[in-house]
Amino acid sequence: MPRQPSEISLDPQDWDAFRATAHAALDDAIEFLRGVRERPVWTPVPEEVRNRLSGRVSPQGSSLEEVYSEFRELILPYPTGNIHPRFFGWVHGAGVANGIIAEMLAAAMNANCGGRDHGAIYVEKTVIDWCKKIFEFPSTASGLLVSGTSMANLIGICVARNSRGDVRNGGLRDYPRSLVAYTSAEAHESVVRAVEILGLGSAAVRKIAVLKDFAMDVGALRQAIEKDREAGLEPFCVIGTAGSVNTGAIDPLEELAEVCGEEGLWFHVDGAFGALGYLTESIRPRLKGLERADSLAFDFHKWAQVQYDAGCILVRKGELQRAAFSMRPAYLKKMSRGLGAGENWPCDYGPELSRSFRALKIWFALKEVGLEKIARIIEQNCEQARYLEQLVSGEPNLELLAPVSLNIVCFRFPQEGLDGEALDDLNANIVADVQEAGIAAPSTTRIHGRLAIRVNITNHRTRREDLEVLVKGVLAKARERMADQHR
Ligand SMILES: *Cc1c(COP(=O)(O)O)cnc(C)c1O
Repeated sequence: MPRQPSEISLDPQDWDAFRATAHAALDDAIEFLRGVRERPVWTPVPEEVRNRLSGRVSPQGSSLEEVYSEFRELILPYPTGNIHPRFFGWVHGAGVANGIIAEMLAAAMNANCGGRDHGAIYVEKTVIDWCKKIFEFPSTASGLLVSGTSMANLIGICVARNSRGDVRNGGLRDYPRSLVAYTSAEAHESVVRAVEILGLGSAAVRKIAVLKDFAMDVGALRQAIEKDREAGLEPFCVIGTAGSVNTGAIDPLEELAEVCGEEGLWFHVDGAFGALGYLTESIRPRLKGLERADSLAFDFHKWAQVQYDAGCILVRKGELQRAAFSMRPAYLKKMSRGLGAGENWPCDYGPELSRSFRALKIWFALKEVGLEKIARIIEQNCEQARYLEQLVSGEPNLELLAPVSLNIVCFRFPQEGLDGEALDDLNANIVADVQEAGIAAPSTTRIHGRLAIRVNITNHRTRREDLEVLVKGVLAKARERMADQHR
């Protein structure tokens, strides 16, 4: 059918030229990934590049070749670094090669996964069903793929809050500042933020003390609940952590499940990276109780190595998740047949209507890699953390700052004659030096108030030799700094 002379479309005018550029881009992407080990972990974005990037958008557009060559020059050389085997900062996954294909195909389909009846919806349902099986949730549980655990925590705690009463209609007027949530002092800040966003205020979160292993002190939790009840407040939710961001600590989940059962509280687990330890023989026993959670938040983009962003929320009583979010105006009314049919649209289970086909990259990664190999990588990373613990313990110029629970090692360079802030500054500078030299990318945190060099291993490309390079790099940069000071 010919186009009217006045009608335009945004499709390529020359599909063959588009194909040539697209194939070149795919080849570049593959080489980029294949050669990652040979490049610096991280390269700061030069000012000149930043300036060129901040230019205005062109009214007339430009050729795809021009846009692509700008991408190659100004964007591709400056990644976060997390695809590199010596990226150890924060908790980042490294991604898998097939994500390149999955993301490309999802773009071609451009599915809107808010609802309706089409293939992508069934892929997401399948992925959620896999998750229920992995974590031994009942088939009647519900779930939703989300951007990450921050969003998953928000949804889980929202369902917890809404299950206490008619918040949707009456707002929080019936609960004037009386609801209280409990989590450990080591919990991720997204937990506090979720409670804030839900209108309860961060003062409604009790940060329960941790024991020597950085896991929640259940005795202190019981006392806090009792004290709040005596003060006329209404405890509603306990948020357990399965793999804390500072040290990889795992709260005593089974005991938390018991407390929640006895006290009638919602049990939410933040298992951002640690929950997938459930796939392994060695970590699963320590996660016992996770399968009793009322809601579980975790990420695919961390230890499951799926490309960003990919997180998940599971809710044991699926009807409660639906009750918290479902809203069907006339233009979304369910049809009995056609594209507008289908039960349980994803938009009924979270705050978003239009949603990307996030499920496809998870489906590709889990199907090709398989759960066994993901489990093996998780165990391998924990073995590597214990190896680094040995390296640090065997090195008189380094000091271990926390027990190694899973995949996170916190240590520092303790220079004689330096303490307090000066020692913290020295270690922060060593981390920045190592990053800027492109040697490795650890990050920092505070352990008992002291600045720690923090190494997190959630990377399937990491080898033991990479940890040796890291330790050598830290010591070399520390020595350079000490030499400078004495000059
Ligand atoms: C990473 C992390 C989060 C936040 O998850 P995002 O996917 O970054 O939103 C929450 N809790 C813990 C324990 C984490 O490690």
